[in-house]
Amino acid sequence: MSRIERLAALLEEPLLVAGPPYILGGQANVRYLTGLESSNAAVVVEPDGSAFLFADFRYASRAREIENVTYVETARTLLAGVAEHLAGRRIAFEEAHLPYVGFRLLQKAGVDAVPTGGVVESLRAVKDDAELAIMRRAGALSDEVFAALANERFSSRTERELVWWIDRSFREGGADGSSFATVVAAGETGTSPHAIPGDDPIATGVLVTVDAGCILGGYCSDCTRTFAVGSISGRLEELYALCLEAQLAGLEAVGPGVAGRDADAVSRVPIEAAGLGDAYGHGLGHGVGIQIHEAPVLRPESTDVLEPGNVVSVEPGIYLPGEGGVRIEDLVAVTDDGGERLTTFTKELLTVA
Ligand code: ZN
Ligand code: ZN
Repeated sequence: MSRIERLAALLEEPLLVAGPPYILGGQANVRYLTGLESSNAAVVVEPDGSAFLFADFRYASRAREIENVTYVETARTLLAGVAEHLAGRRIAFEEAHLPYVGFRLLQKAGVDAVPTGGVVESLRAVKDDAELAIMRRAGALSDEVFAALANERFSSRTERELVWWIDRSFREGGADGSSFATVVAAGETGTSPHAIPGDDPIATGVLVTVDAGCILGGYCSDCTRTFAVGSISGRLEELYALCLEAQLAGLEAVGPGVAGRDADAVSRVPIEAAGLGDAYGHGLGHGVGIQIHEAPVLRPESTDVLEPGNVVSVEPGIYLPGEGGVRIEDLVAVTDDGGERLTTFTKELLTVA
């Protein structure tokens, strides 16, 4: 029996299996507020500016050293300790991050807990100078790794081999790790926006999309380049040129006061004019910081308006099953009068061996 079948055999009703991204999201907020890197910590910030940091024994020595917060050590069931501390009071909680089991613990302690959302995220969306300096370094390391990658042989190696080469290069360059699962997507694999690298040798005459980022000093980078393996068809060259035109239009649009949905719309114009609008099915970009996906977002349904200090990706793509896929992505910091690219590796179509 498969794992799913074994699980299903235990169930009387449908089971929602969800969790870690939300909890990690909450931990990113804790880290942002306190600097504590942890998998089990919480912060209660009072209106008067005082704050309590809750964590268990494993994080105690580091948590105690954090200034401007009062450390409260809890048992491993963190939220039971938080509930005890807040008993009988009215509080707001981040609805995207508090697990239901934690909410129940608060309720049991007589806490009047009111949902709210996006408050810390809205602060995180505007980077300060120190954060921007770190992200510039993360972008520069991405540039170095892409430049070195362009000298590597692609043909006859597998996508997964090149993924490992990239991940290792980030670590050798001083990164803490990769900011997401590195994508190397050749030929047909690259016609899926969320491609999964495989074990087949890469052929010549295809496009290869490489989407990779590192974590440096706790902050993520994100960059995509598409390479040609050997000589490619005129049609694939055209698709590349079209994607680049869309990407440059998107970059040009990024600036303070610009609505996320408007920047997105500008990038669609050339691709739609070529009759390929349906092949660009995702948004133009997303905020990047402690997490690889954060506020603000550049998509048709976005209500965000860019402001100086935002760091966003600009990454249109064209995905045509049976033909090929292209995506080109840069990381950009919004400045007072436009955008500063944090990834600057060439966007000329490079041919690799
Ligand atoms: Zn990316
Ligand atoms: Zn991205």
